Amino acid sequence: MIDEFYNIIGNVGTALQHLIFPMLFFFLFAYLLKRKQAVTAFRTCLPNSIFNISIMCFNLIFISLISSHLKWLYSIDIGENLSQIWASLPEWLVILSATFCGDFIGYWRHRFEHSRILWPSHAMHHSDTQMSWLTLQRFHPFNRMSTLIIDTGLLMCLGFPPYALVANNLIRHYYGYFIHADLPWNYGAWNKVFVSPVMHQWHHAAEPAAYNTNFATIFSIFDRAFGTYRVPGLCHIPLGVPYNVGGNILGQLLYPFKLSSYLKKSKAPQAKSIDT
Ligand SMILES: [Zn+2]
Ligand SMILES: [Zn+2]
Repeated sequence: MIDEFYNIIGNVGTALQHLIFPMLFFFLFAYLLKRKQAVTAFRTCLPNSIFNISIMCFNLIFISLISSHLKWLYSIDIGENLSQIWASLPEWLVILSATFCGDFIGYWRHRFEHSRILWPSHAMHHSDTQMSWLTLQRFHPFNRMSTLIIDTGLLMCLGFPPYALVANNLIRHYYGYFIHADLPWNYGAWNKVFVSPVMHQWHHAAEPAAYNTNFATIFSIFDRAFGTYRVPGLCHIPLGVPYNVGGNILGQLLYPFKLSSYLKKSKAPQAKSIDT
């Protein structure tokens, strides 16, 4: 019990250390783009960033406690037949395939999170009105668990080896930081292939036409293929959810436990796709 406690504290300490490099990286980007206004932007998003780091620590403790009871899941060899195919391919191709399949799975999982049944536990991610790279850490623990189980579970069913699962998680994690950063960047013609920071800002936009669009994390081709792509230019409109999803951190943690949260429609009806 004491060992488990020290392990969890150690995990939280390591996670906080892992924020230092991205923090320096994104602050440098902000300074290059905004110069002295970067300090003002930092102050503006500080309260939301404290919320995001707090929920990251909470999730680490929650997942550490849960995952110690779920270790048996990793011993199930569900994709044994398919794993022989991956073993015959070069590692870079296996990692690319895992990332591509992982984003396809993530696209549909994220779309499902915008349905009435999962929206109450996904709303916390959308409640950040001052989006920054740290918004990636703003997830309800239920949302963190569903992502872990659905994404990693289905990739395991496809027989991907552990190194490809780790690589996929790292790529999605760091690319996730990038698309949540406050960067006014589109990719021009490459928008049709990759998700840009502006494309994901539109996913967080608080206007009805933007709801239920731009679900992918890395490959925008999934949004284009399934009719949810929408990037009408740079995103300068307010971000967040246009109604109260619990207020402070405790209120937002309790939001999925309230029946009334499930009676609201998700942010809005399905939006049409608009290619630009
Ligand atoms: Zn979402
Ligand atoms: Zn997001």
